[in-house]
Amino acid sequence: QSKADGGNTFHLFSSKMDHHVKETIALENELRNAIEQDQLELFYQPQINLENNEIVGAEALLRWNRPDYGVVAPNVFLGTAEEVGLILPIGEWVIFAACKQAKKWMDMGLDTPRIAINISPTQFRKQDVPQLLKDALVSCSLPPEKLEIEITENIVLHGSEATVRDLRVIREMGIAVSIDDFGTGYSSLAYLSRYSVDCLKIDRCFTRDMMTDPNSTVIIKAIVGLGASLDLSIIAEGVETREQVDYLKDAGCELAQGYLFGKPVPAQEFSLLLEQQSLKAQGQYPQKVLVGAE
Ligand code: C2E
Ligand code: MG
Ligand code: MG
Ligand code: MG
Repeated sequence: QSKADGGNTFHLFSSKMDHHVKETIALENELRNAIEQDQLELFYQPQINLENNEIVGAEALLRWNRPDYGVVAPNVFLGTAEEVGLILPIGEWVIFAACKQAKKWMDMGLDTPRIAINISPTQFRKQDVPQLLKDALVSCSLPPEKLEIEITENIVLHGSEATVRDLRVIREMGIAVSIDDFGTGYSSLAYLSRYSVDCLKIDRCFTRDMMTDPNSTVIIKAIVGLGASLDLSIIAEGVETREQVDYLKDAGCELAQGYLFGKPVPAQEFSLLLEQQSLKAQGQYPQKVLVGAE
């Protein structure tokens, strides 16, 4: 009898479960195995110096090769990963994978740019991020100048004294610190003096609206001015057109990242970009290295 009841209960519950809940559970279960089954991968997107079109950095962006789904973008699964606590092992995996890859490029003799990794606020709150970074650098024999972390304004706005200390330690180790999606958060700039950072990444929405909304240009110019005064570098995210490059240069912005110069690509493909750049530097390869860089 209890068996029959159980069956009924399950049936009722099952019919009530909406598609979304089922999908979230499936996602969670599969995500749990993603690391062990080697399904996570970092793609790399070039960061460009607009003066000479050289690659000065690479942002590591997480992808999940999910069975039956293909390549899944981080916004699809990082929310769930946060909710169920998987963001910590995933975040650790990202740190070590990026350091290993950077070291690999150095060992290949490539002029390896600094690799920027995204770190979630949760990871900052719950783990000893400075120690994790130190462990990764040591175990990969990677010089700290090759590493950069990107954090969001939220971390610095709602961060504790511990966060202030952590960021200082990270910078003292020689790792650069960037504020991602800059300009979209709570509009207090006070934290910029409280936290020591190296770089502000102008959010894509300003780059996107620059041509149609004069206010976006004003904001970009203001951020560039802020950078000059506070001795921070400024990089524009989401650059897709040459026209945007002209506007950015006009606004005094010297660094850029976006589809115009290259989409995020697997490590092996990024190696080719670095190889081409090395050859070009040696005067052996006069062709243009990047599509957007003329
Ligand atoms: P983000 O750190 O602001 O990264 C930039 C996002 O903009 C990336 O999306 C990138 O592919 C996209 N993008 C770059 N250039 C262009 C462009 O010209 N046009 C357009 N439309 N988009 C462009 P992606 O890779 O889907 O990553 C989304 C977000 O997921 C990232 O935003 C970041 O917040 C988060 N994320 C990615 N990888 C990681 C990771 O390893 N750890 C953590 N905690 N978060 C990550
Ligand atoms: Mg980022
Ligand atoms: Mg961003
Ligand atoms: Mg973003």
